[in-house]
Amino acid sequence: MFTLLIFFFSLSAFSLSLRIGWQNIPKDKFVLKNNVLYVQSSALADAIGADLDWDPIYKCVIFYYGKAELKYFIRSGKVWFNNKFIQTANKAFIANGRSYIPLRDFANIFGFKLKYNPTKKLIYVELGLATLENLNILSNGKTRIIFDFERNIEYEIVEKKTQHLIVDFFGSFIDPPRIDKKVNSKSLKSFYLVQFNPSTVRAVFEFDVNTRCSVVPENGSRFIFDFGTGESTTLKQNTVAEKPIKESESKTEYKRKGRKIRVVIDPGHGGVDSGAVGIFGGLEKDIVLKIAKLLGNKLMATGKFEIFYTRTGDEYVNLYDRAKFANDVKADLFVSLHLNSYKEKTVEGMEIYYFDFSEDGYVRRIVWKENLDPEKDKDKIAIRVMKKDSYTKESEKIAKYLLSEIAKDGLKVRSVKKGEFAVLAYTEMPSILIECDFISNPVVEVRLLNGDYVNKLTDSISKAIKSYFENN
Ligand SMILES: [Zn+2]
Repeated sequence: MFTLLIFFFSLSAFSLSLRIGWQNIPKDKFVLKNNVLYVQSSALADAIGADLDWDPIYKCVIFYYGKAELKYFIRSGKVWFNNKFIQTANKAFIANGRSYIPLRDFANIFGFKLKYNPTKKLIYVELGLATLENLNILSNGKTRIIFDFERNIEYEIVEKKTQHLIVDFFGSFIDPPRIDKKVNSKSLKSFYLVQFNPSTVRAVFEFDVNTRCSVVPENGSRFIFDFGTGESTTLKQNTVAEKPIKESESKTEYKRKGRKIRVVIDPGHGGVDSGAVGIFGGLEKDIVLKIAKLLGNKLMATGKFEIFYTRTGDEYVNLYDRAKFANDVKADLFVSLHLNSYKEKTVEGMEIYYFDFSEDGYVRRIVWKENLDPEKDKDKIAIRVMKKDSYTKESEKIAKYLLSEIAKDGLKVRSVKKGEFAVLAYTEMPSILIECDFISNPVVEVRLLNGDYVNKLTDSISKAIKSYFENN
């Protein structure tokens, strides 16, 4: 009895902390009974973002989580989940008019991970939410919005009316908790995403009476919303942004069929994704955009190049769509611009990357992204592999040439490297990614924020690109 008491005392709820998702659960909302942790149903529902109900006739606690329904029958101890009874280790109970739910069973049912930190005596329930990885806006007459979540999730159209569409994504997460986007196209004014409850992201689209919208969940993790005026905008399954013409790009420029060399310049990051941040507040996304525009202008000034940008403003563009854009404009060269960051603050210099090509890895990527059939599309895949291999070899050659030329201009360079960048993976032309310098180095950051250095940098890169095409 004595040992049991000590055991109970040492593990009593007073010494334990409990966190579910990002909420700390107050100590009076959970109890330890026979070494089993129980949490008050209302605190549990709050923390995971479930709706809670109580059926007084059957004495039954009901959780509605996403599309799932979970019932605890207090009298019989039975548990009902999605239309059938299931086995659990422990029973829910009522004390002082409140219902208590065994946490471990509850977590198992929904696939939450239960973790324990013995030094902090913290029990942590990880909800395993899928984060929104990409948000992409494409506009060419009609407007297409693409959401990419980390993995498959369930969604539901909450409301679809003449002037708005509300969609919930269950088991998902965004950071920051609200993202507002002005689109101002004919068919879509604006939309926003909000962390509606701890486990649900809600998207709200606002548009004109004449707009017709359609929702295409491409697979369980990608959702495409199309907005157009007039005729129906129904789309085939699996059509990913066939022609991602940026609004800022003029159509005449897009259609021009000159003999000029086409370069797609891709300023990294943008919008909600700021990239690396320097100690003086310099943002990678802003600095690379400045470099991109200057580089583009200098190349155009030679009269030999046609320049396309994957973004011209502070906006988020998904990595796959950047590559797809370069493929669609049939670019001769794709140049992605980034800034490096490293914990050692004195490191500086340029690095140029080309795609780390392996046949297996590449096939896996395109099969997944483009929904190819490894059997039926065998020949198509083989050709793509062959082409990617040859583009990669040329990319390596360009990277090495550029870095050696840039070094001649007295700029600090480091090395040419191989890397598995998604943005380089999907391009079907020679493609490089330039880490222009280290924003983590405060001296470099000041230099980058100062126009002179960016001018010198873009002079050197543009000269090297021009000379590569003259010599090859
Ligand atoms: Zn970057």
